[in-house]
Amino acid sequence: MPDAPPSSDARSARPQFDAAADLIGLSDHLRDILDRPFREITVQVPLKMDDGHTQVFTGYRIQHNGARGPTKGGIRYHQHADHDEVLGLARLMTWKTALTDIPFGGAKGGITVDPRPLSSGELERMTRTFTSRIALCLGPYRDVPAPDVNTNAQTMAWIFDEYSRGRGYTPAAVTGKPIALGGSLGRDEATGRGVVFVMREFARDLKLPLKGARVVVQGFGNVGGHLARILHAEDGARLVGVSDVDGAVMNAQGLDIPRLLQHTAARQPVNTFAGGTAISNEDLLRLSCDYLCPAALGDAITDRNAAHLACKVVVEGANAPTTAAADVILEGRGIPVVPDFLANAGGVVVSYFEWTQNLQQHRWELEVVQSELLKKMVAAYAAVRDTARDRKVSLRTAAYAIAIARVAEAEKLRGS
Ligand code: NAD
Repeated sequence: MPDAPPSSDARSARPQFDAAADLIGLSDHLRDILDRPFREITVQVPLKMDDGHTQVFTGYRIQHNGARGPTKGGIRYHQHADHDEVLGLARLMTWKTALTDIPFGGAKGGITVDPRPLSSGELERMTRTFTSRIALCLGPYRDVPAPDVNTNAQTMAWIFDEYSRGRGYTPAAVTGKPIALGGSLGRDEATGRGVVFVMREFARDLKLPLKGARVVVQGFGNVGGHLARILHAEDGARLVGVSDVDGAVMNAQGLDIPRLLQHTAARQPVNTFAGGTAISNEDLLRLSCDYLCPAALGDAITDRNAAHLACKVVVEGANAPTTAAADVILEGRGIPVVPDFLANAGGVVVSYFEWTQNLQQHRWELEVVQSELLKKMVAAYAAVRDTARDRKVSLRTAAYAIAIARVAEAEKLRGS
């Protein structure tokens, strides 16, 4: 669905925020502070194309809240990455860093561009121009970008290099870098691995074991690809359907995920994989399964399709994949949802590890990264589960309540 309407996650999250703010009795002035962004920059990004003509794009960096530390969040290249989407995603980053109790605030960036037709040289020039225009508000103790949709370690290497010009070698200014430039071991798979860590805890509580469980994953990029790989290889789950932007593939017996990963590494869409049956992206969401993991873009589960999901549980790998209206429908159907800023927090947690390693000029072993990530994810999950049980609210409301209370406390201590 490349031409789906722009995500409305900025607006649709407000009822979810309010439910939690009511639960913890948040004052009106703090609601106002936590609703609005601290700082926003919109920049023009002119790009000289390989054929000599110039195209002008628009880029955003929105710092939502920095009460608990430097703001942190990814940079997305997508034709629907507009102001409202970036703001909604920046807010989510504030709650994610607070929930996992890492010393960062929340930010997000994006350029409204379809990067798929761009050459590597065009991508590099666009990234460098964007970086130079937002650099005035970046820095290791100010705002630290990372990868998101359609950006990767190479993009972060260009940002690092551009930022370091005239400022000296500054690897802590951006995370998700290649290992050779100070990236952390385990960062590439961190978001997918973090989702699995949460799923293991949830599976135990729910008594819905991952071994043999039927799992559907929407999106087969950084998050969805690693998530499917780990669930298949380490947990014995049966991946019965996966999708990408071009379509979906299903196999009731379970897809051969290592072969599917080889297929997509050769830049082939999942629906041309010979080991399954091609289906539409809409039908993927109706597949009968135990765990449905949206790991693509926002607004995948809406009031139009929530009634038709045939899963027992939703685990949000993507940011804002479920609209507030769909949340209500799923709750009514008794389908629990593990919210995005809990389930997919592994990426920013390992970004935090990368930042600390860079500041200390030190490298952690992979085992250390993974075991520290496990601790953070298990602690965040347990806090959310216990709050949900004690206060008789959804996991999402519980997660918001914990995160908002932490940010509000920092705001109050700093004088708000
Ligand atoms: P990515 O660009 O690596 O992959 C995105 C995947 O989604 C691709 O397979 C793409 O083909 C697919 N896709 C796009 N539109 C689709 C559609 N309409 N239907 C089905 N599939 C579609 O991006 P990513 O880094 O894996 O990010 C995926 C989601 O996870 C985003 O919501 C992102 O904000 C969130 N997230 C990413 C990270 C991270 O560390 N990369 C961390 C936390 C959250």
